Amino acid sequence: MVESAHEAIVAPEIFDEVQRILAGRHRTYSPNSRYLLSCMVTCYHCGRNMTGVYRSLGGSCDRKERYYFCDRKSLSNHRGDPNCPHPAVRIERLESFVLKAVRQHLLDKGADKGIRQAIVRARSKNALQTTQDEKRLQELRRKIDRGTENLALADKRDFAAISNLLTAWREEEAEVAERIERRRAALEPLPEALEIIRQLGAIQKRLTDAHHAKLQYALRQTIASIRVGVRKATMGSLTYREHFGELRFHNALLPGKVIPIPDEAIGVRKIWREIGAMVRGIDRPLRLTDVCLYLGTKDHSLASYHVRRAVRAGLLRKVGWVGGWVATG
Ligand SMILES: [Zn+2]
Repeated sequence: MVESAHEAIVAPEIFDEVQRILAGRHRTYSPNSRYLLSCMVTCYHCGRNMTGVYRSLGGSCDRKERYYFCDRKSLSNHRGDPNCPHPAVRIERLESFVLKAVRQHLLDKGADKGIRQAIVRARSKNALQTTQDEKRLQELRRKIDRGTENLALADKRDFAAISNLLTAWREEEAEVAERIERRRAALEPLPEALEIIRQLGAIQKRLTDAHHAKLQYALRQTIASIRVGVRKATMGSLTYREHFGELRFHNALLPGKVIPIPDEAIGVRKIWREIGAMVRGIDRPLRLTDVCLYLGTKDHSLASYHVRRAVRAGLLRKVGWVGGWVATG
């Protein structure tokens, strides 16, 4: 197809529009983003992209950390929930949960077989659709070529009509071409992505830039969405903020499966919960000195504060005459 022949006869604004559509086909994520899950994490509350930031989100004395953060102010559009609580999750924690989930769900033997079958099925379906689209594309291009020739011979009245037709054809042409390309991009790399995930352990250990890009690519091929939110929760009489989320894989991989992301994986550290777990691991009542040792502090009042919270959460109860605390239930 001779591009310049069309440029000359299509109105400039239409030409620009088509170029914009064509350019859209190649819109890709920046492969070298520092954040592994860039453009994949959305806010559960307002649906916006959670962007990677490096800052301290707690008190001013907090250490700076890397977070995925729903920062409403950083975005110009105001769709979604205006009362978004702006969840923030530590990047390392979310990434490690996601990588573990990917390995666990995509690499066990049953899933592996299912994935291969899904790829084969999707491939043959795609191949059929692509053949149909390619025929349509050829037909459209023939029409455009003929229309362009006719345009040169047309009088004023016909010129407008043919020109409109050409515009419509060119738009459809771009659409069909985009569809073909999208299908190709969606399917071809899947086996390759799975191969990268198979080597995940090794890649993770020595995450060079090249590996980072590869891994990012594999995650984008396998993960459909990651949503993260924060909400008020209660346990016993203790009220606290917990993070929650859900992870979905590409439909060809695990259709309809939603993997919940628990607070334990991505929330802020809850020492009362850890104390609750610890007390189950020892065969005598817990003492404040145990907690001090666990926290690496000599501050008994701090240890006592966390123990009180564990008691309020209903995880511990005091044993009267011996002293100390034991697990409830
Ligand atoms: Zn939000």
